[in-house]
Amino acid sequence: MTRSPIWHPFTQHGLNEPIPLVTHAEGAALYTADGRRVIDGISSWWVTTHGHCHPRIMAAIAEQTTKLDQIIFAGWTHEPAETLARGLTAIMPPSLDYVFFSDSGSTSVEVALKMALGYWANRGAARHRILVMEHSYHGDTIGAMSVGERGVFNAPYTPLLFDVGTLPFPTAGNERATLDALDAACREAPAALIVEPLVLGAGGMLIYPPWVLAEMRAICARHDVLFIADEVMTGWGRTGTLLACEQAGVVPDILCLSKGLTGGAIPLAVTLASAAIYEAHLSPDRARMFFHSSSYTANPIACAAANANLAIWRDEPVTARIADLAARQAQRLARLAPLPGVANPRSIGTIAAVDLVDPAGGGYLSNLAPRLLAHFRERDLLLRPLGNTVYVMPPYCIGDDDLDRAYDAIAEAISAL
Ligand SMILES: *Cc1c(COP(=O)(O)O)cnc(C)c1O
Repeated sequence: MTRSPIWHPFTQHGLNEPIPLVTHAEGAALYTADGRRVIDGISSWWVTTHGHCHPRIMAAIAEQTTKLDQIIFAGWTHEPAETLARGLTAIMPPSLDYVFFSDSGSTSVEVALKMALGYWANRGAARHRILVMEHSYHGDTIGAMSVGERGVFNAPYTPLLFDVGTLPFPTAGNERATLDALDAACREAPAALIVEPLVLGAGGMLIYPPWVLAEMRAICARHDVLFIADEVMTGWGRTGTLLACEQAGVVPDILCLSKGLTGGAIPLAVTLASAAIYEAHLSPDRARMFFHSSSYTANPIACAAANANLAIWRDEPVTARIADLAARQAQRLARLAPLPGVANPRSIGTIAAVDLVDPAGGGYLSNLAPRLLAHFRERDLLLRPLGNTVYVMPPYCIGDDDLDRAYDAIAEAISAL
C-alpha cells in the first residue's frame, strides 16, 4: 500500500508507529480492519460517554439528516438548536441563561475568553488579563494555548501567545498558596480566571478538592473577576456528577461544554453565559454585538445528537451507571496502588490514574510512554498514557471483563518495567 497522505494529530510520523484502521465500534469496543476487538479505555479521547454508536443518538442523527442538514445561524434558527438550548438551560446551573454554540472544545474556550473580554470592553473597563492555573489545558488554538500550560507542545508558538497570570496548582497541603496567589492577582483587576474544575486532564489527571474550587470562585466573586469553568472534559458525568462544579456548589459566569455533549458522536460545543455577560453585549449599537461565528455554528445534525444525549440522561439510569463504574474503577485502582513502581494513585468519578515511577524523571516526553503505548496496543487495548501517567477513562457502559483486561494489562506493564 502507498503511504497515506493523512497527517495525524499528536502523531510523530517519523517513528513509523502502526496506525490501526477502525471499521466500526459498539459500546466500549472498537473493531479493526485486521479483525481485532480493541477495548476503548479512554473513551476515544474523553468524548464517548454512553458508548459508541448508542442507538438513540445514531437514530436521532439519521432522522435529522432527512430534514435539515445545515443552516446559517446568524439571524436564523432551527428546532434542534431551540430544543437543545432549552434543554441545557433546564439542567445546567441556574443563572447560566444564554447558550452560544460552536463546534469544538477549543472554540468554546475562545468564545468564553472573547465573551469575558467583550463584557469588560462594553462596560468601558480596560481589563484584559486572564488568570490560569499551572498545568492547565484548554485546547490547541492560539488563544486556548495561551491560557494553557507552556511546554514542548507549544514552544514554537510561545512568542505569539498572550501573557497570562499563572496560579500554582493546589497540591495537597499547598492549597493556600494557590488561593493567596489568586487573591493577590485579583487585586490587579484581571478580566477573568479560567479553570478546569476538579481535574486537570491533559496536564496529567491532576485532581484537587472541591473546597479549593469553591474558594477560588468566592475570591473571584469578591473581586468582581469573571469565573470561567472549562468543563469540556469534566462535564457530562466524568467526575461523578453532571458537572464537576456541582461538587463544589459552584456556578460559573461562563461555562464551556463539548466532548460528551453529543455523547461523543459528532462535534458540537456550547459556551453558556450569565445574563450579565449577555446583557453587556445587548444594545441598539451594532458595534457592541458579539463578533463570533463559525460556519457550522449549531449544526442541526449535531444538535439532534445532543438532544438524544439529553434524552438519554433523562430516561436512562446514567447517574447510577456512573456511580457503579466509579466504584468498579476504584476497586481495581486499589489493587494497582500497592505495586512497586506505582505512585500517586488517584480517582474521581469515572477517571482513575497512576504515575509510573520513571527513573529518567517523567514528563510528557517520558520514554516510558511509547513503550507503554506499544504494550497496550499489543494487548488490543486503547490506552494513551500522558507521559508516565497511565489513566483509565472508559465509556460508562464498559463491562467488568473489559475493565479487568485493561487493569491486568496495566499491572503487567508495571511488573515489566
Ligand atoms: C479536550 C479539551 C479541550 C479542547 O477540546 P477540543 O474539542 O479538542 O478542541 C478544552 N478544554 C479541556 C479541559 C479539554 O479537555
